[in-house]
Amino acid sequence: MEGEIVCVTGASGFIGSWLVMRLLEQGYFVRATVRDPENMNKVKHLLDLPKASTHLSLWRGELVEEGSFDDVIQGCTGVFHVATPMDFSVDRDPEEMNTWRTIGIAEAKEGSYIRVNPHITSTSFTKIAVNTTHTNFNIWHYRLGHPSASRLSVLHSSCPFITISNNNCHACDICHLAKQRKLSFPISDSKSLKPFELVHVNIWGPFSIVLINGFKYFLTVVDDYSRYTWVFLMKSKSKTRNHLQSFIQMAETQFDAKVKAIRSDNGSEFSMSDFYAQKEILHQTTCIETPQQNAIIERKHQHILNVARALLFQFKLAKLFWSYSILHVVFLINRLPTPLLQNKSPFHLLYLASPDYL
Ligand SMILES: [Zn+2]
Repeated sequence: MEGEIVCVTGASGFIGSWLVMRLLEQGYFVRATVRDPENMNKVKHLLDLPKASTHLSLWRGELVEEGSFDDVIQGCTGVFHVATPMDFSVDRDPEEMNTWRTIGIAEAKEGSYIRVNPHITSTSFTKIAVNTTHTNFNIWHYRLGHPSASRLSVLHSSCPFITISNNNCHACDICHLAKQRKLSFPISDSKSLKPFELVHVNIWGPFSIVLINGFKYFLTVVDDYSRYTWVFLMKSKSKTRNHLQSFIQMAETQFDAKVKAIRSDNGSEFSMSDFYAQKEILHQTTCIETPQQNAIIERKHQHILNVARALLFQFKLAKLFWSYSILHVVFLINRLPTPLLQNKSPFHLLYLASPDYL
C-alpha cells in the first residue's frame, strides 16, 4: 500500500488534517483538497507535516462546484471524504444540502471506504459524502467528542466562541448509537493531593479484529489527582512493562514528580516487584473479580471506548481505525472540563493552564 496515491477531501479541518498526517506516516502520497490552497492560514499546518514536501499535494476542492473533484481523484486508489456541510456558509438552506451531488464511489477495502472504482465517471458516482446538516451546537459537540450539553455550557463560559444549544432537548443520533449503559458502581473517593502520587493502570483488549498497524491492546494510565490519561497502543501485553517503566521515567523527567503508588488488577503484566522496589513505588492490587475496586480506570475505559465508537460512526470509518480513534479521544477528554474536577479539565490540573480549543 505504501506509495499509493490517496485523496483526502476537506483536509484543512481537524479530522482531515489528522488523517493526512497518518496517511503520510504510512508512506502514502496524499492529495489533499481544501477550499483555498493559497490561504496559508488554512494550509500551513498541512505543509508543515513530516513528509509533506515530497508526499503531499494540495488541490482546490469545492463540493458545490460540478466537476471540482474530477482531476484530483484521477489515479487515486482511495478517497477519504471528510468534508462536511459544516464548512459552508450558514445562510445556505439546510434542505438544499441533502441534494448535493455525489462525488465518488468507493469499494470496501479491509472494511473501509477506500478504493475508488476507476471505471465509473464522475457524473455517475455513488454517494459517499456525509450529508448531514449541522447546527453550530452540533459542530462543537462533534469536534469535542460528543460531550454533554452541560459540559459544553461550562466550556462556553470560559470560551464564548464555543456555541451551545438553547434547547436542552438536543438529540444526537451518533450518541444514541454509540454510547452504552454506564457502570453502576460508584467512583472511589480516593483523592490524591498532587499529580503522580497515585496512578491507576489497566489493559483493554484484545480487540475483536486486528487494527491498522497490528495493534490489539491498549494500556491506560490515569493520574488519580488530575485524571489526566495516557494511552499506549500495544501489539501484545508483553509490552506493558516497558511502557509503564517509560511512563514513570517520563513523570520524573517532564514533571519532576515521582510516582508513589500504582494501582492495578492482579494481571501478571503489572508484576515487576524488583522495579517497584528500586523506585520505592507501592504496588496496590485489587481483589480478583472485583472491577469496582478499579472503578476509576474501568470508567475511563468505558468513556474512551464510547467516544471512540461515536467518532468512528461520525466519520464512517471502519473498525480497523479504532486505534487512531482512541488516541484522538484521549486527547479530547483530557481537555474537557468535568464535574469531578470542579469543572476543570485534566489538562488544567496537570499543566496549570487552560487547553487551547482553537
Ligand atoms: Zn453526539
